[in-house]
Amino acid sequence: MKEQSALDTALEQLRIAAEKLNLDPGIHEMLKHPKRSLIVSISIKMDNGEISTFTGCRVQHNDARGPFKGGIRYHPNVTLDEVTALAMWMTWKCAVVDIPYGGAKGGVCCNPKKMNLNEIERLTRRYTSLILDVIGPYRDVPAPDVYTYAQTMAWIMDTYSQFKGYSVSECVTGKPISIGGSEGRAEATSLGVVVCAREAAKVRDLKFNGATVAVQGYGNVGWNAAKIAYDMGCKVVAVSDSVGGIYCQKGLNPYDVYEHKSKTGSVVNYKGCKNIKNEELLETKCDILIPAALENQITKANADKIKAKIVVEGANGPTTPEADKILDEKGIMLAPDILANSGGVTASYYEWVQNLTREHWTLEEVNQKLENKMVKAFSDVYNIMRKEESDMRTAALMLGVGRVAEAIKTLGLWP
Ligand code: GLU
Repeated sequence: MKEQSALDTALEQLRIAAEKLNLDPGIHEMLKHPKRSLIVSISIKMDNGEISTFTGCRVQHNDARGPFKGGIRYHPNVTLDEVTALAMWMTWKCAVVDIPYGGAKGGVCCNPKKMNLNEIERLTRRYTSLILDVIGPYRDVPAPDVYTYAQTMAWIMDTYSQFKGYSVSECVTGKPISIGGSEGRAEATSLGVVVCAREAAKVRDLKFNGATVAVQGYGNVGWNAAKIAYDMGCKVVAVSDSVGGIYCQKGLNPYDVYEHKSKTGSVVNYKGCKNIKNEELLETKCDILIPAALENQITKANADKIKAKIVVEGANGPTTPEADKILDEKGIMLAPDILANSGGVTASYYEWVQNLTREHWTLEEVNQKLENKMVKAFSDVYNIMRKEESDMRTAALMLGVGRVAEAIKTLGLWP
């Protein structure tokens, strides 16, 4: 049987929302397809002198509510279909938190773990030059995603600026602070995830202080979520990365685990913890489960074995529609990706506003704005869920897709 692809998931979610919203079939059809997809071949010289060619793309789903916005990922499994799904999710996400952006995503099919920093820099600059015509501060603003970082964004900004002939900090977000990045951006996705977990705990009458947490993925989103949850008084009992996971009933210290991973390359074999498989991580007995890795992790094969009371999606698309149903029937509350991980793009928006106005806000300012935004989005979605007697995903999709459809109708269709 063919595995459910991210695009299958995204289209099925759109179908559910369209049905619930009684969406104009013409607009539904329009939203199934990205407005523009650009495929590029990125040839670079590797350090051994050989030329390698990588396939990349930038998919721009919809810009009715504002410039296209979304990250760029470097991963060996990147496909055009996957990036298209991710671009669609960005459109809904920006609408759910009500920031004036559309949705896009970029990807390069490569294995950054097998490349050195010089090769990744050349790849980034060449890729930027190839998508130069379709990006820009008022057109499409890239940001980090899987295996891309603040440094990657700095190279994009520099390449873009060299072509323009002047410095354009507002062409990309998630930059280092020294060149116009925002305070708080690096941890923003995770702060948003943990705020969502706290709000979900509130409505579920679950005590957040002391709640047990399991986190899948120990990249930027996963590790910072573990850290922030720990700092807010939760007990982090299990974490994992692409190599494997660790479990400790009495709770672990995410900072120490991070140091251990920096030294050894993985969270596994951390002292005092039991090594577990990645599948076991998802099935850990805990209050709050945070999938913060890749798509397609909670499926109909394992949804029934999830023991958490609340699932908060740090990753994009970790749960399939079939699994959504199973979790809902089990009474598990799921804060969906387009709500739960929207803190990242929200802080990106704050960074862009700061760049455009040549200002620099304090960390307190950014975090306060971000927290207010997340709390508001959570309660907007929660109220729709109550009213519609749906699950949180359907409610969030109804809010996001509904706002985008409204913008499309208001703009009208040129010509
Ligand atoms: N890649 C992140 C996401 O999936 C952030 C996107 C952005 O900041 O534009 O939401």
